[in-house]
Amino acid sequence: MRYLDFIRKQKEYVPPADIPQKGHIDQLFETRTLTRDALRYLLESEDERTAEYLFFKARIRQKETFENKIYLRGLIEFSNFCRCDCKYCGIRKSNGNVQRYHMSREDILRCAELGHMHGFRTFVLQGGEDLSYSDDDICRIVSSIREKFPDSAVTLSIGERTKESYQKYFDAGAERYLLRHEAAAPELYRKLHPQAQTLENRIRCLYDLKSIGYQVGAGMMLHAPGQTLDDLITDFFFLQKLQPDMIGCGPFIPHKDTEYRNEEAGSVELTLRVLGILRLMFPEVLLPSTTALGTIDPMGREKGILAGANVVMPNLSPRDVRKKYMLYDNKICTEDDAVQCAGCMNQRMKAIGYRVVEERGDAPRKVAQMCRQKSEKRIDGA
Ligand code: SF4
Repeated sequence: MRYLDFIRKQKEYVPPADIPQKGHIDQLFETRTLTRDALRYLLESEDERTAEYLFFKARIRQKETFENKIYLRGLIEFSNFCRCDCKYCGIRKSNGNVQRYHMSREDILRCAELGHMHGFRTFVLQGGEDLSYSDDDICRIVSSIREKFPDSAVTLSIGERTKESYQKYFDAGAERYLLRHEAAAPELYRKLHPQAQTLENRIRCLYDLKSIGYQVGAGMMLHAPGQTLDDLITDFFFLQKLQPDMIGCGPFIPHKDTEYRNEEAGSVELTLRVLGILRLMFPEVLLPSTTALGTIDPMGREKGILAGANVVMPNLSPRDVRKKYMLYDNKICTEDDAVQCAGCMNQRMKAIGYRVVEERGDAPRKVAQMCRQKSEKRIDGA
């Protein structure tokens, strides 16, 4: 019932006369930026009136660009092998308790086929940094999907690679790449990763991807062990500099086989506040309401949408591998099949007044660029 109250409150919301931090929210709405102090006040505020007003303004920006459309991304977790050892991750290389798997190109294509039948027009190929797939293997997988489903986009999320590799994947048809930076504050990044994994290389990758022409997704973990609000604000400023097309951020959730097993998970409240702030800072960005948010709150994904997000990422991976791709504990939807996931998401979004669309859902910047190119072609041909 608390969920229904939350939804009703958002739908029928009329700003009251007294809203703490209203000036800061209005300024963020108008100028897309705030000082470090003002951002800290917003993040610290536990006043419900502040949060509700933030979400209200975030929904105005969300609807100006995306109306009430929700874009679906079909997640295919094709390998849980990883050469990295991120300290918070359940499938990091040194976790000997993981049953490892790779999917073949045929299996991946089968997942995409099923997804396409159920309205998915973006496939996100996600895996650990598994070097048993060569660049040519990745290119073959990408180009097979693009050939079979020319109306669909392929997003890669396979970690840090060389610029040459990124270029090959792009030439094969991958147009988008997700690489969460996780933490832009150097000290925090060092704390969460082994020495061999550096923030400098992470950032190098993001700028390489941008320079090639990908629609780039960055993002961070919220309430990561040791993270302060100042660290989080550093993330906001980093994102303002990078100007990504997508920002994926979800709450930290501990995994039993990591040194952070006893740490507290991130809160729904902080996650929603961050989503609201991001929507006001980046009105056109693609912003997922994550599975991690749905894991810490059964209605987390709906709440994320009502706080400004506009993307959901149901799982298209075969059921028998889902439990093996556990980045954190208690991940939801590991028992449902792809069809159930898609149907469930449609219903959930409909219930809060949004509609899942059968579209690629490109970044608005990219859509404008594609329109310009088309009209230039027409003029040239006239
Ligand atoms: S977070 Fe990603 S890169 Fe790091 S260990 Fe896990 S799968 Fe590998």
